[in-house]
Amino acid sequence: MKSEFAVIGLGRFGGSIVRSLIEQGMEVMAIDINEERVNEFASVATQAVIADTTDENVLKNLGIRNFDHVIVAIGDNIQSSILTTIILKELGVEHITVKAQNDYHEKVLRKIGADHVVHPERDMGRRIAHYIVSTNVLDYLELSEEYSIVEVIVNDFLAGRTLVELDVRAKYGINIVAIKRGKEIIVSPMANDPLQMNDILIIIGADTDINRFEKKMLNQ
Ligand code: ADP
Repeated sequence: MKSEFAVIGLGRFGGSIVRSLIEQGMEVMAIDINEERVNEFASVATQAVIADTTDENVLKNLGIRNFDHVIVAIGDNIQSSILTTIILKELGVEHITVKAQNDYHEKVLRKIGADHVVHPERDMGRRIAHYIVSTNVLDYLELSEEYSIVEVIVNDFLAGRTLVELDVRAKYGINIVAIKRGKEIIVSPMANDPLQMNDILIIIGADTDINRFEKKMLNQ
């Protein structure tokens, strides 16, 4: 069964969610107060509607309660974002994801019961900061304040060594969960298979442990 989504606010963030959900075969209603934005999505979304979502009756008439998941991607207008979220909550929408503009906004959204609060600018900033400080780190995903998943490219210090030799679990408390080798992804890496130059290691662990490992790799 296809899930039904509604995306409110068709800026860069909301717009890219609409496109991506459609690509995944989902049904998406795209909503914005701005007619031009809505027109842009008329041929992309399952349905595109001009509406001010701070008006409870408007949301009721759209049958918003029947959607599985509503994403509020109203950008700068924090007041409208909060009001829309409160109304969605009151109408009994089951899953609500809201984009927060700043920490204060995030706090309020959590208080009023948004199920997921996302903070894309802050998170992307942190992500980028992680891979610009280290030439070996290709990508970074924060799991919590202390734990992350990082992608590290194999340099000449690691190339030719096996996971047994590196023994990262005992030495650093981190786990190499997969290896990307060209187009192949090895999900259960063999302990005795030597790493190759330019392999990408997907590592999970505490930030402090991952940093120790990175430093060791770089200082060789
Ligand atoms: P981004 O930072 O993701 O590009 P924008 O601030 O450009 O976000 O986009 C937010 C969108 O939300 C705009 O297209 C704006 O018209 C829409 N929007 C703002 N207030 C409302 C509202 N009350 N109801 C519906 N859509 C709204």
